[in-house]
Amino acid sequence: MRLLLVEDDDRIAGPVLEGLGRYCFAVDHVKSGASALSAPAADLVLLDLGLPDMDGIDVCRALRARSAVPIIMITARSEETDRVVGLELGADDYLSKPFGVRELVARIRAVTRRTHPDRLAPLNTGTAMTGVPAHSSPHARLPEERGVQRLGPLTVNRRTRGVSVDSRPLTLTPKEFDLLAQLAGDPGAVHSRQQILDTLWGPDYFGPTRTLDVHVSALRRKLGDPAWISTVRGIGFRLTVPGDSAYT
Ligand code: CA
Repeated sequence: MRLLLVEDDDRIAGPVLEGLGRYCFAVDHVKSGASALSAPAADLVLLDLGLPDMDGIDVCRALRARSAVPIIMITARSEETDRVVGLELGADDYLSKPFGVRELVARIRAVTRRTHPDRLAPLNTGTAMTGVPAHSSPHARLPEERGVQRLGPLTVNRRTRGVSVDSRPLTLTPKEFDLLAQLAGDPGAVHSRQQILDTLWGPDYFGPTRTLDVHVSALRRKLGDPAWISTVRGIGFRLTVPGDSAYT
Protein backbone atom coordinates (compact mmCIF):
# COMPACT_ATOMS: atom_id res chain seq x y z
CA MET A 1 0.00 0.00 0.00
CA ARG A 2 1.21 3.47 -0.88
CA LEU A 3 0.08 6.31 1.35
CA LEU A 4 0.14 10.03 0.69
CA LEU A 5 0.85 12.17 3.76
CA VAL A 6 -0.18 15.81 3.35
CA GLU A 7 1.29 17.66 6.33
CA ASP A 8 3.24 20.91 6.42
CA ASP A 9 4.46 20.57 10.00
CA ASP A 10 7.69 18.57 10.12
CA ARG A 11 7.26 18.00 13.85
CA ILE A 12 4.19 15.92 12.97
CA ALA A 13 5.35 14.54 9.62
CA GLY A 14 8.74 13.34 10.90
CA PRO A 15 7.47 10.93 13.55
CA VAL A 16 4.58 9.82 11.32
CA LEU A 17 6.94 8.97 8.44
CA GLU A 18 9.31 7.21 10.77
CA GLY A 19 6.51 5.31 12.49
CA LEU A 20 4.72 4.26 9.30
CA GLY A 21 8.06 3.13 7.92
CA ARG A 22 8.40 0.77 10.87
CA TYR A 23 5.01 -0.65 9.94
CA CYS A 24 6.29 -1.15 6.38
CA PHE A 25 4.03 1.41 4.70
CA ALA A 26 5.42 3.26 1.67
CA VAL A 27 4.62 6.93 2.20
CA ASP A 28 4.89 9.92 -0.13
CA HIS A 29 5.05 13.17 1.80
CA VAL A 30 3.94 16.57 0.52
CA LYS A 31 3.55 19.82 2.43
CA SER A 32 0.87 21.74 0.59
CA GLY A 33 -2.59 21.33 -0.83
CA ALA A 34 -1.40 22.07 -4.34
CA SER A 35 1.26 19.38 -4.22
CA ALA A 36 -1.29 16.95 -2.73
CA LEU A 37 -3.54 17.49 -5.74
CA SER A 38 -0.68 17.00 -8.21
CA ALA A 39 0.81 13.97 -6.44
CA PRO A 40 0.59 10.51 -8.03
CA ALA A 41 -2.45 8.46 -7.04
CA ALA A 42 -2.17 6.84 -3.62
CA ASP A 43 -4.04 3.99 -1.95
CA LEU A 44 -4.93 6.19 1.03
CA VAL A 45 -4.47 9.87 1.89
CA LEU A 46 -3.60 11.24 5.34
CA LEU A 47 -4.70 14.83 5.07
CA ASP A 48 -3.82 17.62 7.49
CA LEU A 49 -6.63 20.19 7.49
CA GLY A 50 -4.37 23.15 8.35
CA LEU A 51 -2.23 23.66 5.23
CA PRO A 52 -0.28 26.76 4.24
CA ASP A 53 -1.77 27.29 0.78
CA MET A 54 -5.30 25.85 0.88
CA ASP A 55 -7.90 24.80 3.40
CA GLY A 56 -7.58 21.06 3.89
CA ILE A 57 -11.36 20.83 3.54
CA ASP A 58 -11.02 22.12 -0.03
CA VAL A 59 -8.27 19.59 -0.71
CA CYS A 60 -10.57 16.86 0.62
CA ARG A 61 -13.39 18.04 -1.63
CA ALA A 62 -11.12 18.15 -4.68
CA LEU A 63 -9.69 14.69 -3.99
CA ARG A 64 -13.14 13.21 -3.48
CA ALA A 65 -14.46 14.86 -6.65
CA ARG A 66 -12.03 12.87 -8.75
CA SER A 67 -11.49 9.60 -6.92
CA ALA A 68 -12.75 7.29 -4.20
CA VAL A 69 -9.34 7.17 -2.50
CA PRO A 70 -9.80 6.65 1.24
CA ILE A 71 -9.07 9.86 3.16
CA ILE A 72 -8.18 10.17 6.84
CA MET A 73 -8.21 13.78 8.00
CA ILE A 74 -5.65 14.90 10.53
CA THR A 75 -6.75 17.92 12.49
CA ALA A 76 -5.42 20.06 15.27
CA ARG A 77 -8.61 22.02 15.29
CA SER A 78 -11.04 21.48 18.07
CA GLU A 79 -14.02 22.64 16.06
CA GLU A 80 -16.32 19.78 15.36
CA THR A 81 -17.64 21.54 12.25
CA ASP A 82 -14.43 20.85 10.32
CA ARG A 83 -14.66 17.15 10.99
CA VAL A 84 -18.35 17.07 10.23
CA VAL A 85 -17.87 18.96 6.97
CA GLY A 86 -14.96 16.71 6.03
CA LEU A 87 -16.92 13.55 6.78
CA GLU A 88 -19.89 14.83 4.82
CA LEU A 89 -17.56 15.59 1.91
CA GLY A 90 -16.59 11.95 1.91
CA ALA A 91 -13.56 11.71 4.18
CA ASP A 92 -13.50 8.27 5.76
CA ASP A 93 -12.21 9.08 9.20
CA TYR A 94 -10.25 11.63 11.17
CA LEU A 95 -7.57 11.78 13.81
CA SER A 96 -7.05 14.64 16.24
CA LYS A 97 -3.53 15.79 17.02
CA PRO A 98 -1.74 14.62 19.03
CA PHE A 99 -2.04 10.95 18.11
CA GLY A 100 0.21 7.93 18.32
CA VAL A 101 1.47 5.91 15.40
CA ARG A 102 -0.30 2.81 16.69
CA GLU A 103 -3.61 4.65 16.67
CA LEU A 104 -2.89 5.95 13.18
CA VAL A 105 -2.08 2.45 11.93
CA ALA A 106 -5.27 1.09 13.50
CA ARG A 107 -7.28 3.74 11.65
CA ILE A 108 -5.49 3.04 8.37
CA ARG A 109 -6.22 -0.65 8.76
CA ALA A 110 -9.87 -0.07 9.69
CA VAL A 111 -10.44 2.26 6.75
CA THR A 112 -8.65 -0.12 4.38
CA ARG A 113 -10.56 -3.14 5.65
CA ARG A 114 -13.74 -1.27 4.92
CA THR A 115 -12.83 0.05 1.50
CA HIS A 116 -10.28 -2.38 0.01
CA PRO A 117 -10.00 -5.51 2.16
CA ASP A 118 -7.86 -7.13 -0.57
CA ARG A 119 -5.13 -4.54 0.00
CA LEU A 120 -4.68 -5.22 3.66
CA ALA A 121 -1.08 -6.02 4.44
CA PRO A 122 -0.23 -8.63 7.05
CA LEU A 123 -0.39 -7.41 10.62
CA ASN A 124 2.70 -5.57 11.60
CA THR A 125 5.48 -7.49 13.24
CA GLY A 126 7.52 -4.33 13.68
CA THR A 127 10.25 -5.43 11.34
CA ALA A 128 8.94 -7.61 8.55
CA MET A 129 5.99 -8.15 6.25
CA THR A 130 6.02 -11.87 6.88
CA GLY A 131 3.92 -11.78 9.96
CA VAL A 132 0.62 -13.10 11.12
CA PRO A 133 -2.01 -13.18 8.37
CA ALA A 134 -4.29 -10.17 8.35
CA HIS A 135 -6.99 -10.39 10.93
CA SER A 136 -10.35 -10.57 9.27
CA SER A 137 -13.38 -9.94 11.40
CA PRO A 138 -16.72 -11.26 10.21
CA HIS A 139 -18.16 -7.93 11.33
CA ALA A 140 -15.81 -5.89 9.20
CA ARG A 141 -17.36 -6.85 5.88
CA LEU A 142 -20.90 -6.47 4.78
CA PRO A 143 -22.93 -9.48 3.74
CA GLU A 144 -22.39 -10.16 0.07
CA GLU A 145 -26.06 -10.19 -0.71
CA ARG A 146 -26.76 -9.79 -4.37
CA GLY A 147 -29.61 -8.14 -6.06
CA VAL A 148 -32.03 -5.39 -5.41
CA GLN A 149 -34.09 -4.76 -2.31
CA ARG A 150 -37.26 -2.70 -2.35
CA LEU A 151 -38.78 -1.20 0.79
CA GLY A 152 -41.74 0.95 -0.13
CA PRO A 153 -40.36 3.75 -2.31
CA LEU A 154 -36.76 2.89 -1.34
CA THR A 155 -34.60 0.75 -3.62
CA VAL A 156 -31.21 -0.53 -2.47
CA ASN A 157 -28.97 -2.25 -4.99
CA ARG A 158 -26.10 -3.93 -3.18
CA ARG A 159 -24.39 -4.96 -6.42
CA THR A 160 -24.12 -1.45 -7.81
CA ARG A 161 -24.37 0.34 -4.45
CA GLY A 162 -27.14 2.39 -6.00
CA VAL A 163 -29.98 3.82 -3.91
CA SER A 164 -33.13 5.56 -5.02
CA VAL A 165 -36.31 6.89 -3.43
CA ASP A 166 -39.36 7.11 -5.69
CA SER A 167 -36.96 6.37 -8.59
CA ARG A 168 -34.92 9.45 -7.66
CA PRO A 169 -31.28 8.34 -7.36
CA LEU A 170 -29.47 9.42 -4.20
CA THR A 171 -25.79 10.30 -4.01
CA LEU A 172 -24.49 8.61 -0.88
CA THR A 173 -20.97 8.47 0.48
CA PRO A 174 -19.56 4.95 0.82
CA LYS A 175 -20.26 4.90 4.56
CA GLU A 176 -23.76 6.28 4.17
CA PHE A 177 -24.46 3.44 1.78
CA ASP A 178 -22.97 0.89 4.18
CA LEU A 179 -25.08 2.30 7.00
CA LEU A 180 -28.24 2.16 4.92
CA ALA A 181 -27.45 -1.34 3.68
CA GLN A 182 -26.98 -2.58 7.22
CA LEU A 183 -30.23 -1.07 8.50
CA ALA A 184 -32.12 -2.24 5.40
CA GLY A 185 -30.72 -5.74 5.90
CA ASP A 186 -33.25 -6.19 8.70
CA PRO A 187 -35.88 -3.49 8.37
CA GLY A 188 -37.82 -2.71 11.50
CA ALA A 189 -35.15 -4.31 13.71
CA VAL A 190 -33.09 -2.23 16.10
CA HIS A 191 -29.40 -2.20 15.17
CA SER A 192 -27.25 -1.30 18.15
CA ARG A 193 -24.72 1.49 17.88
CA GLN A 194 -21.94 -1.01 18.55
CA GLN A 195 -23.10 -3.35 15.78
CA ILE A 196 -23.13 -0.47 13.35
CA LEU A 197 -19.77 0.88 14.49
CA ASP A 198 -18.24 -2.58 14.16
CA THR A 199 -19.61 -2.99 10.65
CA LEU A 200 -18.81 0.44 9.34
CA TRP A 201 -15.58 1.25 11.14
CA GLY A 202 -14.24 -2.13 12.19
CA PRO A 203 -13.88 -3.47 15.71
CA ASP A 204 -10.64 -1.58 16.31
CA TYR A 205 -12.18 1.83 15.73
CA PHE A 206 -11.47 4.01 18.74
CA GLY A 207 -12.96 7.26 17.57
CA PRO A 208 -15.91 9.15 18.96
CA THR A 209 -19.26 7.51 18.37
CA ARG A 210 -20.56 10.98 17.48
CA THR A 211 -19.24 10.16 13.98
CA LEU A 212 -22.09 7.68 13.62
CA ASP A 213 -24.69 10.33 14.43
CA VAL A 214 -23.18 12.56 11.75
CA HIS A 215 -23.70 9.85 9.16
CA VAL A 216 -27.21 9.06 10.37
CA SER A 217 -28.15 12.74 10.09
CA ALA A 218 -26.72 13.01 6.58
CA LEU A 219 -28.50 9.85 5.47
CA ARG A 220 -31.84 11.00 6.91
CA ARG A 221 -31.49 14.26 5.03
CA LYS A 222 -30.72 12.51 1.75
CA LEU A 223 -33.60 10.07 2.16
CA GLY A 224 -35.83 13.12 2.33
CA ASP A 225 -37.82 12.08 5.41
CA PRO A 226 -36.30 11.73 8.89
CA ALA A 227 -38.92 9.06 9.64
CA TRP A 228 -36.90 6.53 7.61
CA ILE A 229 -34.40 6.13 10.44
CA SER A 230 -35.62 6.29 13.99
CA THR A 231 -33.39 6.62 17.01
CA VAL A 232 -34.00 4.05 19.72
CA ARG A 233 -32.72 5.91 22.73
CA GLY A 234 -29.80 4.28 24.48
CA ILE A 235 -29.65 1.42 21.96
CA GLY A 236 -29.32 2.35 18.33
CA PHE A 237 -31.25 2.90 15.15
CA ARG A 238 -33.80 1.19 12.98
CA LEU A 239 -35.04 1.66 9.45
CA THR A 240 -38.74 1.75 8.75
CA VAL A 241 -40.81 2.77 5.76
CA PRO A 242 -42.46 6.06 6.72
CA GLY A 243 -46.20 5.64 7.09
CA ASP A 244 -46.08 1.85 6.74
CA SER A 245 -47.95 0.38 9.70
CA ALA A 246 -46.19 -2.96 9.25
CA TYR A 247 -43.19 -1.46 11.00
CA THR A 248 -44.87 0.34 13.89
CA1 CA B 1 -0.65 22.00 9.45
